[in-house]
Amino acid sequence: MKKIRNYVNGEWKDSKTEEFLDVYNPGNGKVIGKCPLSTQEETKEAIEAAAKTFESWSKVPVTKRAKILFKLQNILVDHQDELADLITEENGKNHSDAYGEVGRGIENVEHAASIVNLLMGDSLSTIATDVDVTNYKYPIGVIGCICPFNFPMMVPFWMFPMAIACGNTVVLKPSEKTPILTQRIIELCEEAGLPKGVLNVVNGGSEVVNEILVNPNIVGVSFVGSKNVGEYVYHTASAHNKRVQVLGGAKNHTVILKDCDMEDTIKKVIGGAFGSAGQRCMAGSVILVENEIADEFVEKFTLAAKKLKIGDASSQSDVDLGPVIRKEAQERTFNYIQSGVDQGATLVLDGRKNIPSEGFFVGPTILDNCTTEMKVWKDEIFAPVVSIIRVKNLKSAIDIAKKHELANGACLFTNNAKAIRYFRENIPAGMIGINLGVPAPVAFYSFSGWKNSFYGDLHANGKDAVYFYTRRKVVTAQLRTGGFEE
Ligand code: NAD
Repeated sequence: MKKIRNYVNGEWKDSKTEEFLDVYNPGNGKVIGKCPLSTQEETKEAIEAAAKTFESWSKVPVTKRAKILFKLQNILVDHQDELADLITEENGKNHSDAYGEVGRGIENVEHAASIVNLLMGDSLSTIATDVDVTNYKYPIGVIGCICPFNFPMMVPFWMFPMAIACGNTVVLKPSEKTPILTQRIIELCEEAGLPKGVLNVVNGGSEVVNEILVNPNIVGVSFVGSKNVGEYVYHTASAHNKRVQVLGGAKNHTVILKDCDMEDTIKKVIGGAFGSAGQRCMAGSVILVENEIADEFVEKFTLAAKKLKIGDASSQSDVDLGPVIRKEAQERTFNYIQSGVDQGATLVLDGRKNIPSEGFFVGPTILDNCTTEMKVWKDEIFAPVVSIIRVKNLKSAIDIAKKHELANGACLFTNNAKAIRYFRENIPAGMIGINLGVPAPVAFYSFSGWKNSFYGDLHANGKDAVYFYTRRKVVTAQLRTGGFEE
């Protein structure tokens, strides 16, 4: 049984709370840890430690901060297998998804380690006679980082490496469903030489979040999670004068045109729809396929989905599809499948059947002939369930995507250059994939959706992250001659 502790000012602390939540291995349904629901007082203590440390850490030369991140990158690479195993154990992802996530986390450290270049300001000589202008970037203070369960490594790494590289200090709240990996990450950060107080961790739920949102020592909030919680976080933190970025819920439309390469498309759409058990903000949960090829596509797609091996990746090596995170998520998904049937969809593959009895499994589910009236299209299900809508052409597919309130990513499968351009120019989404199933941008580019999938201004990752975690100061200076003559 894993003991989950808080980490404040460089010390591991048992929470004083009497409330704990079970942490499960969703692959076998066994309890593997107890996550404390830490108190408001404990959160305040962590924020105070971060605020004190900010005074010294923000003055540490940027080259020294970068060196710690270089060291952390090396350590993480050495521990990739162990970290991937921890993700599989507490989240249920199969080995390749877990390993991919670790790689994405490390990539973020690599991006943050190039902070010396990223922080360079710009300057202009002789803006007026003997007057020069320089733009400097400074850290902003204590950042609150609030994370979801579905990427226990990648999402915290979107946040804390860049925040601390810029000279800020951090209070991180992992998901109470997946708090175990963070414990190990902190040990590895200690090994890399991160000074105490720079990165603090408070485990828990809404009580911790609520303190982060209102505490005057928090100046910035990075949040990733569901739409409703995200909206609450955005409005509350903004009302308390904090800089906020909220990456929220998602519904991603995949458009398949009649000239696509069918075999390649099937392979990628299977990965996009069912990878990580559909628990990705980039999951291809809606497929819009042109009428002419719809029968062929549905037949081949279903055949491929039936071949996926479902199971507990923490005890079997060749699993394709792992569990969803909790029993409630499984039940919720079963209800969605039924609602699709009740609203008139054709259930081509039923994920309620042929699943392991232990653990929280949903098999690959395919609902054909869906419409925009159905709940399975309107809501984010966050499970391996695909809704197929048959469409007349690319324009009618885009019109459907335009109607949805969420817009994270969108994909197009075609060999037609003009269609690609039309799609790029007209689809309302923040991240686009062309002949790719999961268009999650690498760390060096910004990551975020449009519409109600994102609240704020500056996105995660890329140059946006540097701007989010810094504030700028422009110095205009007329230099006196001081006795110097030409
Ligand atoms: P969640 O919203 O339930 O939880 C996210 C965080 O908010 C957790 O740390 C949780 O403790 C906290 N929280 C939950 N309820 C709260 C409340 N009432 N008050 C205050 N804090 C609260 O999300 P989740 O289920 O952990 O993650 C899945 C969601 O995250 C999906 O909707 C997915 O699309 C989204 N997500 C989005 C992106 C993106 O880039 N847009 C990336 C990953 C995940």
